Amino acid sequence: MIIDVHGHYTTAPAALGQWRDLQMAGLRDPRKAPAATDLRISDDEIRETIENNQLRLMRERGLDLTVFSPRASFMAHHIGDFDTSSAWAEVCNELCFRVSELFPEHFVPAAMLPQSPGVDPRSCITELVRCVEHYGNVAINLNPDPSGGHWTAPPLSDRFWYPIYEKMVEYDIPAMVHVSTSCNACFHTTGAHYLNADTTAFMQCLNSALFQDFPTLRFVIPHGGGAVPYHWGRFRGLAQALNTPPLETHLLNNLFFDTCVYHQAGIDLLTRVIPTKNILFASEMVGAVRGMDPLTGHHFDDTKRYIEATPYLSEEDRRQVYEGNARRVFPRLDAVLRNQGR
Ligand SMILES: [Zn+2]
Repeated sequence: MIIDVHGHYTTAPAALGQWRDLQMAGLRDPRKAPAATDLRISDDEIRETIENNQLRLMRERGLDLTVFSPRASFMAHHIGDFDTSSAWAEVCNELCFRVSELFPEHFVPAAMLPQSPGVDPRSCITELVRCVEHYGNVAINLNPDPSGGHWTAPPLSDRFWYPIYEKMVEYDIPAMVHVSTSCNACFHTTGAHYLNADTTAFMQCLNSALFQDFPTLRFVIPHGGGAVPYHWGRFRGLAQALNTPPLETHLLNNLFFDTCVYHQAGIDLLTRVIPTKNILFASEMVGAVRGMDPLTGHHFDDTKRYIEATPYLSEEDRRQVYEGNARRVFPRLDAVLRNQGR
């Protein structure tokens, strides 16, 4: 099996964006605020957006299943207050749940949280519980910077975040550490803010005892881990200077990197530097980079091609990257697959 652990519903019907526009208009004029029931999207509309986009590409590329969450850049936790994020997370999570119901063999949902700048993350627990218990979500996306590029929240190692971690450990679900839209002009959303956040999250974990407090807590650091694999020597040296244990024991039972790296040399570096057990196949298709690479004649985000071609993975390693590691890091996904006899 080939499991893509990083997909978003970037192709949701236009009605979703229109509902969000009304919600934002409602922040200025409450009479305009829509109810959740004002969003009407039919199963056929969902089918069409999935079949013509993500599922078509999955079939073309030979991928079996995607862990599917709401569009990351649309989370925009900086907009409005907790109630704004709460209503928005509810409608977005429900849509991904419906995708998983319509295509149970191909999509398993992961949840966005109703985070809001300065608000206690405890406030996210209700939605997290709803998504795991009623919608069968197998993971969450955790935004380390709900301010959208101003980094006003404490680091991920701070006790501020512990209520979410306690629930993650209880449910045995991982979090993908995933920021959203940047509203800081210095940081382009997908070109800088995402990659900065990946690198930042890793260093926050390194410079802490977080995984001593939560030995089974698991984070997926997307986009190949930002700058981390490229600078592995720097991080090893910093660990030594900071008197932490070596990275293998300090972080690598808890942190995992996906393969959303859009060229062969990048995947070669990732697979050469990072242990195979810490690498999860992903493409984030129909996402930030949708174009065709003129050098290869294939889509930049067709990451399976790079995994196939890299000399640093054996056949057994590839099986782990495609399937085995995902089943281990996402035990609830493994349970869903076992129920399906897969
Ligand atoms: Zn993403």
